Amino acid sequence: MTAQTSRIPEFYKKTYEERLQILKQQAELSDEEIHLLRLHAAASFGTVNRMIENVISVMFLPLGMATNFLINGEEYMIPMAVEESSVVAAACNAAKLARISGGFFVSSSDPIMIGQVQLLGINDFSAAQKIIFLHKARILALANAHDQVLIANGGGAVDLETKVLETSRGPMLIMHLFVNVCDAMGSNIVNTMVEGVATFLEDLTGGYARLRIVSNYAVRRMVKARAVWKKEQIGTEVVEGILDADALAHADPYRAATHNKGIMNGVDAVALATGNDLRAVEASAHSYAARSGSYQPLSHFYKNEDGDLVGELEMPLPIGIVGGITKSHPIAQLSLKILRVKTACQLTEIMGAVGLAQNFAALRVLVREGIQRGHMRLHSKNIASNVGAIGDEIDVIAERMVCERSVSDGRARELFDELKK
Ligand code: NAD
Repeated sequence: MTAQTSRIPEFYKKTYEERLQILKQQAELSDEEIHLLRLHAAASFGTVNRMIENVISVMFLPLGMATNFLINGEEYMIPMAVEESSVVAAACNAAKLARISGGFFVSSSDPIMIGQVQLLGINDFSAAQKIIFLHKARILALANAHDQVLIANGGGAVDLETKVLETSRGPMLIMHLFVNVCDAMGSNIVNTMVEGVATFLEDLTGGYARLRIVSNYAVRRMVKARAVWKKEQIGTEVVEGILDADALAHADPYRAATHNKGIMNGVDAVALATGNDLRAVEASAHSYAARSGSYQPLSHFYKNEDGDLVGELEMPLPIGIVGGITKSHPIAQLSLKILRVKTACQLTEIMGAVGLAQNFAALRVLVREGIQRGHMRLHSKNIASNVGAIGDEIDVIAERMVCERSVSDGRARELFDELKK
């Protein structure tokens, strides 16, 4: 049965208790269920209620810490927020194996984000492009007038370009504004700037501005990561196996999607732990993966002259250490403190290293024993808990399932019933 009605006027204006009472009635929740929502919101309702609308509770995730990371010669402890078993363990393991050859070597571009202005109703595209180009300095100055703090931090609009696109609604002129957003993710900065220059562009071109917004295809904000895994350490069979897996990912989008999902296991977990916009990170990664028209892996593995495995990753990463909720979310702040990052570029580079580590770890397991053994061992506790086991019961059932090599909902249920008898 669905809710009695979803038409609840001004739900956002209700107090927290009023919202819970409405929910209890409409969704027919028990007192215990309402208590659960209240319990999880207890420590942070004030904070989260300022983040989004209509808050009813908090959805929690484990925050784990990846160890062993050596990145550009520096030691890092890396907080990761993720619900999937084995992600944190895999990162630690891959980082440990990479330490022998110096860990991860990373670099990043300037933090340039792109804003778009869509100009319609233009008669002479070539004249419009010319006049925009002639007024470039004025447009950049106008954009920069909107964020003095950014300018004081060394950032600001740095360049622009135009292009004419043929679309199903006819030709249109698009202007790209390039903005150095320093330590911010930068969407709000860029949105303010492109909205701020739109009227001037209309005056210049005689057209009218429709969309004025940041692009999540952040191709001017790139990170590169590289690591070498020694053949003596991982075995030549694993080296060859990963090369086979890499070849498949480059030839087949079915595999490339899962290859990249492995990378995003790490990248997303650090993005979440540091309060970053996961949707932007994902949109950016996958649009870049599809840039050639066929969906491609974000990393590449090859053998060096010594026969060791080299992994290289390249991807856009629109993230920040100021702005958004990075400062207002207390755990995000703590994560940034643990990481000891001073700039957004530094965080970008750490995320690139974690993405590559995660990618290697998944491929290594895949070409050896297959993903399920280790994964299901870690997941067995979730399965035991799903059938109603609590406390020590979870460990007993999980252990039995792992010993029997039969980790499944059905077996967990049988063992739980046995235990209860
Ligand atoms: P923001 O507007 O919250 O903060 C950025 C501001 O911080 C800047 O305007 C600047 O004045 C100030 N600042 C102080 N020190 C700085 C420094 N060292 N470097 C840079 N800026 C500094 O945040 P934002 O990063 O512009 O926007 C991020 C938010 O925008 C995220 O919450 C995201 O979810 C949201 N958003 C995303 C999209 C999208 O399509 N991805 C669209 C709209 C909004």
